[in-house]
Formats: sequence, structure tokens, C-alpha cells
Amino acid sequence: MENCEEKDKKPRLCPVCKQVIVGRSDKNFCSEACRNMYHNRKYSRLRHDFKAIDRILKRNYLILKSLINSGTRKTNIHDMVMMGYIPKYVTSIRQENKHNKILAFSESPLIYECYDICFRQNKWGEVEILGQRPLPVGTILALNNENIPDDGV
Ligand SMILES: [Zn+2]
Repeated sequence: MENCEEKDKKPRLCPVCKQVIVGRSDKNFCSEACRNMYHNRKYSRLRHDFKAIDRILKRNYLILKSLINSGTRKTNIHDMVMMGYIPKYVTSIRQENKHNKILAFSESPLIYECYDICFRQNKWGEVEILGQRPLPVGTILALNNENIPDDGV
């Protein structure tokens, strides 16, 4: 009975070398070497993507930081793009607290953050840099106690 079921199944192929996988039904690779190669390639691509995004975020951060250092608090997104800023790459977006006085700047209640620098952008492309937000008390200590891998993988 088991042999009949086995005959109906298509042979499973190793995703790396395309050879037939022999052995247990939950085996995904023909060998340990192919399994390692698959994961190395996968994480190599991930690391490449992470690095590309990290570079964009860091460049965006440095542009915002240079604007703060030069005393610029209001600018526009077009000038920032001319400096190399790439919109859409932020580390978080949060809703402004309506009780906060900062809301007067624009109709948009959204506050964008690139790491610890907060800014707001309205529909005309005007940007108001709100400044650097201090990390909540205890964050550094908590991060130091976490086991965070170097590359995130
Ligand atoms: Zn293989």
C-alpha cells in the first residue's frame, strides 16, 4: 500500500542541484552541503538588501542632521531630494497627539522619524524638522541586555 502511494508522488528535487531527494518526506535538500548553500545564498541576498536600505536610511539621517546643525527647521522635500534624500525611507511614522501644540504646522497629523530625528511634511512638500527625540529612559540599558545579532540574520 505504501509503495503504491510512493509511486504516485512526483520525485522531490533539491532546489539547489535539482537532483532527486532521497530519504525522509520532510527532507528539503539532497545533502547538508546543498542545504547550507541554499541558506547562504538566501541570507547573502537578505544582507545585501539590508545594507542597501541601511545606507539609504543613514544618508537620510545625515541630511536631516546637517539641516538641524545648520539651524534649518523648515525646508521642502524637493531641496532635500536635491541633497540626496530619498523620501519614503523612514524608520517610523506616528500619529500626532492632538493635544500637542506642534499640530499647527500642517494639516497632516503624521510625524515621520528617521532614527531619532522627527519631522513633518505637508501635502505641499514643506518639511518642518521637529528635532531629535530622546530615547525613552532605560532603552540603552535594555538594548545592551538584549542579544542582538550583528547583521540581523
Ligand atoms: Zn542538492
